Amino acid sequence: MIEKPHDFQCRRCGACCRVPGYVELLPDEVERIANFLGLDIYEFTSKYAILLSGRRGLSLASRSDDRCIFLRDDNTCEINPVKPRQCREFPSQWTEPELLKVCAGLNPSP
Ligand code: SF4
Repeated sequence: MIEKPHDFQCRRCGACCRVPGYVELLPDEVERIANFLGLDIYEFTSKYAILLSGRRGLSLASRSDDRCIFLRDDNTCEINPVKPRQCREFPSQWTEPELLKVCAGLNPSP
């Protein structure tokens, strides 16, 4: 694993978008992503979001294989210009132990 997060370079492996878990959505992000997709908020949340337990908020939905619903087959993000804060801040300001293990940008091949 690299020592300094500022040395991080995304390798476009898509691994961080395949780890089971939640991508929380802030209220302004719901509106921004819905607008980007040309949907109203109701259409967006019913198709692409789930309610977190305890009604804590919304998270992006996942596919049956656990990958994020917006991860394309070529490992690009369908909503990249407006992706949630959690995605934008990984791995410098937001992370999870499981993500650190799988990230090719943080675990370069020898
Ligand atoms: S929104 Fe984009 S960057 Fe975030 S987990 Fe989904 S595919 Fe990955």
